[in-house]
Amino acid sequence: MPRDTERRQGRQGHVILETPIQFVKGVGERRAELLRRLGINAAGDLLYHVPHRYEDATTITPMNRVDVGADVTVMGTVVSKGVVPTRKGLRIFQAVLQDASGLLELSWPGQPFLDRTINKGDTILASGPCRFYHGRQLQPREFVNLGAEVDAEGGRVLAVYAATEGITARQIRGLINQHIDVLLSQVDEFLSASQRDEVGVLPLQDALRRVHQPASLEDAELGRRRLAFDEFFFVHLLHRRANALARTPRRGIQFATSGELVRTLFRSLPFQLTAAQERVLAEITVDMTSASRMHRLLQGDVGSGKTVVALGAALLAIENGYQVAFMVPTELLAEQHVRSIGRMLEPLGIAPVLVTGSLGAAERRAVDARMQSEEPLLIIGTHALVQQRTSMAKLGLVVIDEQHRFGVEQRAALGAKGETPDVLLMSATPIPRSLALTIYGDLDVSTLDERPPGRRPITTARRPNSARDRVMEFIDREIEAGRQAYIVYPVIEESEKTDLKAATTMREELAAGPFASRSVELLHGKVPNAERDAIMTRFRDGAIDVLVATTVIEVGIDVPNATIMLVEHPERFGLSQLHQLRGRVGRGAEASYCILLGHVGPDAAARLDVFVGTEDGFAIAAADLKLRGMGDLFGQQQSGEAMFRVADPIKDAALSGKARALAVEVLQADPQLAHAHHAQLRKVLRARFSRALTLFRVG
Ligand code: ADP
Ligand code: MG
Repeated sequence: MPRDTERRQGRQGHVILETPIQFVKGVGERRAELLRRLGINAAGDLLYHVPHRYEDATTITPMNRVDVGADVTVMGTVVSKGVVPTRKGLRIFQAVLQDASGLLELSWPGQPFLDRTINKGDTILASGPCRFYHGRQLQPREFVNLGAEVDAEGGRVLAVYAATEGITARQIRGLINQHIDVLLSQVDEFLSASQRDEVGVLPLQDALRRVHQPASLEDAELGRRRLAFDEFFFVHLLHRRANALARTPRRGIQFATSGELVRTLFRSLPFQLTAAQERVLAEITVDMTSASRMHRLLQGDVGSGKTVVALGAALLAIENGYQVAFMVPTELLAEQHVRSIGRMLEPLGIAPVLVTGSLGAAERRAVDARMQSEEPLLIIGTHALVQQRTSMAKLGLVVIDEQHRFGVEQRAALGAKGETPDVLLMSATPIPRSLALTIYGDLDVSTLDERPPGRRPITTARRPNSARDRVMEFIDREIEAGRQAYIVYPVIEESEKTDLKAATTMREELAAGPFASRSVELLHGKVPNAERDAIMTRFRDGAIDVLVATTVIEVGIDVPNATIMLVEHPERFGLSQLHQLRGRVGRGAEASYCILLGHVGPDAAARLDVFVGTEDGFAIAAADLKLRGMGDLFGQQQSGEAMFRVADPIKDAALSGKARALAVEVLQADPQLAHAHHAQLRKVLRARFSRALTLFRVG
């Protein structure tokens, strides 16, 4: 659309869904920039900027019922305000609010600037704890200035929007209310009435209206349900389609099941496979010997023995004359795998080949030559495998370990090194099956739900700061006995903004204090690769007693002599992350310990105690999901938060199931969404998901 047309539309108020946000009436360049920061790029995005919560009479406490010690939400009009200094030089903004029931003082320490934006007569909605200070006083943890136009006693539901610095929730609400009618009139429905009835969701326009302007909280929830359904439906459509395309019959590769190599390997191992390993390997074997391509996720807790299973798959491919690419996230892990897998495969006469970014030019050329030959190979490497320009002549299987560490593109690029290799992804963050279907819907999922026997439990404990000296003495005694320790911090360097202990300064402090007679080294993400590997090698060889680190050590490092994992500021970590960290110890014959050190609030304490109380990765992942949401578990790349803004894959699991069923039904009847009655659906998919372009060739 030419710019001037858009501008005219903006001026005349004939805003359309696609109108860039800066041309929407009431917006302007500066505010547009702020709105874009909230993900609002076009007028239509306003409809999908849904309130993050609602307030009504049932959630708001009347002023005269606010008790000291309670955490409440109040709403009232500012009747007086001002900035008061304290003896310590802190300046406090205070305002007295009034509602029909009475008065209440609100206080914002250190925020005198609020005096400029909060005025007498404004209506304020605020949440926070009420304490006693010359009387009842509420310290808002969060507040919204609703301005002067809101009737504090009105019984209607108030939508509270996510805002950002420079633009208030009130301004956003104003903007949405101003344009909602004209925007809603352009919204296309893509579900038929019978589909909606079957699932039990509202028409789209109706739902959007209720989300923004609900008459009651139930109303808002009905609206949200439809939007949540749509999010699931789209994701399942894309997943099912991707799955169907990925599983199209391969040209050429079909492994036969001699299984000779696999049997030889398992005979030579010092242990027996667990029942879960047997089952999962059987699932993989069925995939690999079938005529269509494998696209499978193997999930299993830290230490559940995924590597051996992957090796079984690799040997099946090698036995059939194919090459295998095994990708891991760090050089260290690649080298470790080459060593340990090399040992296991020695009786078979197979030597894995290492590919990392540190290979010399000559080595690289040699590896290239082998990759381009038809020689069966097991290549183990980092993402350097993807960067290596050569393709592989007979790539039959791709294994991607710690798959969440890789982007979708990197995973796809590795698969593209050969014709149509089977793909096995591995994850150490197991999640419930229903959730796996929502998040990894384009994959088949196998789960290792059993631990190899004979593993010693890791003693896990939470200790307050007052126990610091004793904890350090305990660690020193372990070192004296020949063991090694990891001490983990949430940040590399100290900053003025937080008073978090940082790895860099703590390394110095520890090396000068409690561990003065020990060898203490520092490892974090900014340490150059070569140096990092050198440090890890020295730690592995026992030349370093204490490794002070950030979460760089979270993935896959295997040093059996390390028996202590001390984590400071444990509240800064997700439970699954702590579980991965704990997985670094308990790898040898000695008793191991995981200690969480530091003062934490009651909420964090309750959360951390879940971790302290169990070593079951499933239980921990489930708790993490419930308490902190999906971002924590899946990082940015796969975070459900990126996929779902309204839907909650855990709470809305049943809705996701319905969406999945409908997606399957729709695609069965019309795999490419080519029918005329799917035109609206195609249009929405195209607008919302760039991936839809390639999967459905829409456009
Ligand atoms: P992860 O699933 O975390 O990748 P690994 O594959 O590294 O776990 O296995 C962890 C350790 O358990 C390895 O030392 C491996 O040799 C050992 N292991 C694997 N399977 C078994 C088993 N069935 N019995 C005993 N030990 C096993
Ligand atoms: Mg592993």
